[in-house]
Amino acid sequence: MAAHSPTAPAPEMITVDPDADEVSCDGGGGALGHPKVWYSFDGKDSAECAYCARLFTKGK
Ligand SMILES: [Zn+2]
Repeated sequence: MAAHSPTAPAPEMITVDPDADEVSCDGGGGALGHPKVWYSFDGKDSAECAYCARLFTKGK
């Protein structure tokens, strides 16, 4: 019934340069890391990593 498991890690929100067109993510390295990938904002204000669900948001 509950939508969220209490043991599931909350997605991180990361603020990036408002002038950035793309952002890279490697999951922070270590056991939680993943291959480095780049995401284009593509005109939007945020991009979510498909690997680790981090949400990259442009700063103001
Ligand atoms: Zn990631």
